[in-house]
Amino acid sequence: MKTVEESLKHILDSAVPLGLEKISILQALGRVAGEDIRSQRSIPPRDNSAMDGYALRSEDIDGASRQNPVAVHTVEHIPAGYFPQKAIGRGEAARIMTGAPVPEGADVVVKIEDVDVEGDLVQIFEPSPAGEHVRARGEDVIDGELIVPRGTVIGPAHIGMLASTGHASIPVYQRPLVAVIATGDELIDIDGDAASGKIVSSNSYSLYGQILQCGGMPMQLGIAKDNINDLLAIFKAAERADIIISSGGVSVGDYDYVKGVVSETGITLEIENVAQRPGKPFAFGTKGRTLFFGLPGNPVSAMMSFEQFVRPVIRKITGHRDLFRKTIRATLEEDIKKKSGLTYFIRGKVTGHEKGFNVATTGDQGSGILKSMVLANGIIVLPRDVTEVKKGEKVTVQLIDDSFLSSPKPEYLPF
Ligand code: AMP
Ligand code: MG
Repeated sequence: MKTVEESLKHILDSAVPLGLEKISILQALGRVAGEDIRSQRSIPPRDNSAMDGYALRSEDIDGASRQNPVAVHTVEHIPAGYFPQKAIGRGEAARIMTGAPVPEGADVVVKIEDVDVEGDLVQIFEPSPAGEHVRARGEDVIDGELIVPRGTVIGPAHIGMLASTGHASIPVYQRPLVAVIATGDELIDIDGDAASGKIVSSNSYSLYGQILQCGGMPMQLGIAKDNINDLLAIFKAAERADIIISSGGVSVGDYDYVKGVVSETGITLEIENVAQRPGKPFAFGTKGRTLFFGLPGNPVSAMMSFEQFVRPVIRKITGHRDLFRKTIRATLEEDIKKKSGLTYFIRGKVTGHEKGFNVATTGDQGSGILKSMVLANGIIVLPRDVTEVKKGEKVTVQLIDDSFLSSPKPEYLPF
């Protein structure tokens, strides 16, 4: 049986990034840039005014003072969005609004609040160095500059920058189509007959959420009965997916047919079972570029195996550089005993802040106790050879939800 580390390495090595697709920048939030993207222009495109004021030649006002103001003559008005029609000569100025291009000849803008105006005459009372209140051409971005390197996760600021540099659409990594298959004669859908004693296939739903959360496109294929024909049909329907995930039927029970059936569909099984708890029954296989994950049926085991193996793969093939959850070290609030030889993933609730984290388990850790997952914001990882950890010791925790870090209100707010 492979260890968690061996399995993860094997699985990640089998996964190759998907191709690229070109999408509108309005659809690109959270997607990963598939190529280096460069600016197609300089921003700002020309020197322009940072203030409402007068554009003139700095040398003209070198000697200006309260006692000896310099008077310049206004030759034109330049609102934002209009182009200067005249060059500024000695003793001349243009009245200019914020954002308007600075006219030829002028190298400084004097603020409107700092001058006296009488008709076309403008009195200036102090010198200003060249460049004052002028936004230089290209001071934000120059033509050809790398603005979004390949692998960048696109955020709102990137979208604004792409728009201002002329990109309406960009190449991003494709999202994988992920088929979800539930197996088991005991399963019904939400609207099924609960009085029959059967249970709802909650895995079909929690896995759907997990796939969406990490950037995959879930394709729900429903429930297959524990018989070979039903299973063959549903795996056939999954063939066009990039990733096929099933839950249940990979254990050693009488009706656990999944591994046999996937082999029959041409998938080569490469991993069977992983030295972990929960989630020991497991299967991984490939057929060309298609990846197959046979997750265990128990609701917590299925989610945990997805977290450990499927999520990093979806992150990798969608071009992400960071494949894993953020991990922290936290102080354990109780003693935990475990079996040697298996890596344990324990549902925990992390509290605290950057100065120190604590973590407690969320109660009954049975692999069918979904509530322990509902209450968890972290997964405590206990290494394979450890048999016991004591209250007060530090443990590694994968954060599946870091919202506990947000404060009730920003501390600078007075209310
Ligand atoms: P299996 O791995 O097929 O032996 O399933 C183990 C247990 O997991 C079953 O007895 C069910 O209680 C539960 N189970 C299997 N599939 C699902 C599912 N899709 N949703 C919720 N629970 C499931
Ligand atoms: Mg089953």
